[in-house]
Amino acid sequence: MPNCQETLKELELFLDSELPNARIEEIMAHLTGCTDCQGAYEFHAELRTIVRVKAKRDHLPEGFTDRLLACFEPQSE
Ligand SMILES: [Zn+2]
Repeated sequence: MPNCQETLKELELFLDSELPNARIEEIMAHLTGCTDCQGAYEFHAELRTIVRVKAKRDHLPEGFTDRLLACFEPQSE
């Protein structure tokens, strides 16, 4: 099972469903048992919804979502 750091690192790919099924299952298993990562997952998922809705309504400046998402990247140790 992936640890917290791996889970957070792959959260974006997980949300994009760009991981192999086996990995998705592992991440889901970790999320089920880890409230920290669960919180991060819910936050990212919600953020995406907000950004998607907003992007439809307004034209966001180039790189805005990248910069926004970068704020929530796990800090490398
Ligand atoms: Zn975790």
